[in-house]
Amino acid sequence: MKTTDSPRTYRVKSFGCQMNVYDGERMAELLEAKGITPAPEGEAADLVVLNTCHIREKATEKVYSDIGRLVKSGAEAGKEPMIAVAGCVAQAEGEEIMKRAPAVGMVVGPQAYHRLGDMLDRAVKGERSTDTDMPEDAKFAALPKRRKVSPTAFLTVQEGCDKFCTYCVVPYTRGAEISRPYSELVDEAAKLVDAGAREITLLGQNVNAWSGEDAKGHTLGLDGLIRELAKLPDLKRIRYTTSHPNDVTEGLIAAHGEVEKLMPYLHLPVQSGSDRVLKAMNRSHTAESYLKLLERFRAARPDIALSGDFIVGFPGETEAEFEETLNIVDAVGYAQAFSFKYSPRPGTPAAGMENHVAKEVMDERLQRLQAHLGRDQYAFNKASVGKTCDILIERRGRRPGQWLGKSPWLQSVFFDSELQIGDTVRAELVHAGPSSLQGRLLEQVAA
Ligand code: SAM
Ligand code: SF4
Repeated sequence: MKTTDSPRTYRVKSFGCQMNVYDGERMAELLEAKGITPAPEGEAADLVVLNTCHIREKATEKVYSDIGRLVKSGAEAGKEPMIAVAGCVAQAEGEEIMKRAPAVGMVVGPQAYHRLGDMLDRAVKGERSTDTDMPEDAKFAALPKRRKVSPTAFLTVQEGCDKFCTYCVVPYTRGAEISRPYSELVDEAAKLVDAGAREITLLGQNVNAWSGEDAKGHTLGLDGLIRELAKLPDLKRIRYTTSHPNDVTEGLIAAHGEVEKLMPYLHLPVQSGSDRVLKAMNRSHTAESYLKLLERFRAARPDIALSGDFIVGFPGETEAEFEETLNIVDAVGYAQAFSFKYSPRPGTPAAGMENHVAKEVMDERLQRLQAHLGRDQYAFNKASVGKTCDILIERRGRRPGQWLGKSPWLQSVFFDSELQIGDTVRAELVHAGPSSLQGRLLEQVAA
């Protein structure tokens, strides 16, 4: 690689989950602390960070085609950008990316991106580097302070996973479960609120596995952290995702009935409704134990909106087992959900299992599942019509004069009134669509 001028502009392209979005924001802050500014919309950036996701197939190929596109458009413009590959594909592929893509100057894993600044200094001198270390804890302490944020902010509180579901790469790409220290999180949350955040979503691969110690040395679970953050006067809403059924505590369920700022929404993936499939997935819960958990959340907060993740076509899944998934969907009545076709990930136990389900069968099952989920989401939205609630305005809509906010139940709500990003408005939900609602402004709520 040749020596090059220091980049003046950057673009971070994040794929995949919200934790990647959070990492992308932190990398952007790190680059801005070095005096590099975001590339204006529509203009090529001097430095492009591809913040990748490895959860499903084709992710790796997509990264190489993105790199190819960047090289081609750079060559046409007479200046190739510096390219960094970050995220879970970087972790999984490491040196392989360096071999296959000479245009890439930096490959950095999700636990090492606090070192991106040093890697960049080396890249300017013509030195390519790969860093896929997993040093415990060092990353967050080494990152710059939070800058101005939108009214909704993410805060990663927990990383990694020890559950080893047989289909999943996360324990390999993100490492073992760690919880960020309590005082660091309270401090970062306060800074986010000072910078304008009114809603914070606490993030973790298993966010409810978070544990920490307060200043008095008392051990706390996620509910303890939520109760502390709720004391920040200007913070109006708290959410958390993604939870694992095995890490649900009595305290977390109770918090839903007691902490007003904790929004009535729970994302609790089940993956399948068949106990045989759940066992083969190493999920360590059954369909029945999952349903019992949901009943307890509903008892604490009767209006709670439920969401989940589903995988269809896990190796060996029969038609009868798939129908058990449809049954659990029908029993719960989800307000929202994410559903995926099983994707074999190299190195995971499920990839080596027998009886992989044919693609056409998976396609057909996914369609049927999504029809049930879509029906329930629409029903949930229709049942919300007539309700009055607070909406936090997040952005402009696509039409001129249109604004978009979120209800407490995480539904998208559109308004045609003149509003501002960050406003909280009291509104009546007047019309429901399959994936959003129309709101009627009643009054502005004091910020
Ligand atoms: N830790 C969370 C949990 O267990 O519920 C979810 C984390 S994972 C990043 C998000 C979702 O991706 C999972 O809930 C699962 O539905 C899906 N997923 C993970 N591996 C997959 C695979 N190999 N094929 C298809 N979907 C997958
Ligand atoms: Fe993956 Fe299972 Fe861990 Fe979720 S709990 S991140 S699905 S291994």
